[in-house]
Amino acid sequence: MKKTVVIGAGFGGLALAIRLQSAGIQTTLLEQRDKPGGRAYVWHDEGFTFDAGPTVITDPSALEELFAGAGKRLEDYVDMMPVEPFYRLCWEDGKRFDYSNNESLLQRQIADFNPADVEGYARFLEYSKAVFKEGYLRLGATPFLQFSDMVKVSPQLMRLRAWESVYQAVSRFIKEDHLRQAFSFHSLLVGGNPFATSAIYTLIHALEREWGVWFPRGGTGALVQGMVKLFTDLGGKLELNTAVERIEVEQQRVSRVVTQDGRVFAADAVASNADVVNTYQKLLGHYPPGEAKGRKLAGKRMSNSLFVLYFGLNATHPQLAHHTICFGPRYKELVQEIFHGATLSDDFSLYLHSPCATDPSLAPPGCGAFYVLTPVPHLGNAPLDWTVEGPALRERIFDYLEARYMPNLRQQLVTHRMFTPDDFQHTLGAHLGSAFSLEPLLTQSAWFRPHNRDENLKNLYLVGAGTHPGAGVPGVVGSAKATARLMLEDLA
Ligand SMILES: Cc1cc2nc3c(=O)[nH]c(=O)nc-3n(C[C@H](O)[C@H](O)[C@H](O)COP(=O)(O)OP(=O)(O)OC[C@H]3O[C@@H](n4cnc5c(N)ncnc54)[C@H](O)[C@@H]3O)c2cc1C
Repeated sequence: MKKTVVIGAGFGGLALAIRLQSAGIQTTLLEQRDKPGGRAYVWHDEGFTFDAGPTVITDPSALEELFAGAGKRLEDYVDMMPVEPFYRLCWEDGKRFDYSNNESLLQRQIADFNPADVEGYARFLEYSKAVFKEGYLRLGATPFLQFSDMVKVSPQLMRLRAWESVYQAVSRFIKEDHLRQAFSFHSLLVGGNPFATSAIYTLIHALEREWGVWFPRGGTGALVQGMVKLFTDLGGKLELNTAVERIEVEQQRVSRVVTQDGRVFAADAVASNADVVNTYQKLLGHYPPGEAKGRKLAGKRMSNSLFVLYFGLNATHPQLAHHTICFGPRYKELVQEIFHGATLSDDFSLYLHSPCATDPSLAPPGCGAFYVLTPVPHLGNAPLDWTVEGPALRERIFDYLEARYMPNLRQQLVTHRMFTPDDFQHTLGAHLGSAFSLEPLLTQSAWFRPHNRDENLKNLYLVGAGTHPGAGVPGVVGSAKATARLMLEDLA
């Protein structure tokens, strides 16, 4: 029986391990932390459950397909609940927009901002659907291994004006400033600057309109647990607290991985879900072509980092929607500072998560579990001392939330914890503390992104945010499909 090792139990690693194990390949999943999930880790503090990362679950069909491939049904493992509105968008001037799948509600709200944009939005939706068909349905889970693969899709990319930024594309259709923000901020959810990331990322709008926004009962951690259960039910082995130290190479092939505690796992093929720069720089740092590739990748542009603040209150704040985007006073200037600045800006925009709006079981009775995040520069651009900046930013954010969104928050505080760029770097092994790996620029996407199979080591594969197609739960689950296809062909 063929044996594989997958390094890292993020969504990408888990999805790949399930696909391999379903196909009858004995698969061992090695995770350095004490729990699986990666960015989708879970904390339990004083009776509160905090999902650490992804909360907006889109494209449940990709997950259904993953379970179906193993002869199982997603709903037997996880109860996915629809979230409505998808997001509530709020601005400091008091304007508000409930972003939803209800066409007439959308049109009414757009008309309130600018009647002329109703027709522009209809054309934007058509454009977004065309991009979604090409960029997600056709190419999302297709590995780009040869430059000719890129050349083949170039006419479609040109037709869809992929060279434009998300914001430029939205602005061709929509004129009002708030609405331009409302329909362009999505790329930030996967680490893309709306003013630099390819217009291909407007597909997120059509994807959400097509399949909705979902939340697993019990939190995103329940989805991770469902995937772990499926994997182990199939006979797969998950080893937690197992950090891989090196990937060994013999005669131009990967032969085994060695863990920090000295264990050796031999494999016919190895896939890394660990940070892509560190995979080459650290795990393959002893192998000259690996070290060289790591150096090259380290020179690429990384996505921003995040400052995340988890807090439990002895109150519920039912006025909040499940997902709220709190836009600050500036948009373009703030985004440019997040992606290129060397310090923290004086203002911020926030994403506020209030999961008890959908699932009260995440907090003790009468209480609410929340998290709030703000995008911040990665450590390469802004090597800040987060032991100082973190607590100061926490206080600024609590002040802001209390003044505008959550009255009496401080009095109600039961527990809180932070996750800073330092934690992304040290706890998750993320290069420069980036929250989303390589920035999703056109010049770092598809064939230009690290390939799902290494060019030199033909039995080494990548899966997750750093390879094609990129970050986000649908992205990394798609990367697992692309990588599994290559591995299964190669192992046959
Ligand atoms: C705060 C936050 C909110 C987000 N919100 C959303 C959202 O709402 N919707 C959405 O779709 N996406 C969201 N994202 C993005 C999404 O979470 C990620 O793109 C995705 O989860 C990354 O998955 P991955 O497979 O690349 O692996 P990761 O989650 O990065 O996991 C990689 C794993 O590898 C392990 N590892 C690393 N090195 C080693 C080693 N040497 N040995 C063993 N194990 C190792 C790590 O510990 C980790 O568990 C969010 C991200 C963050 C940070």
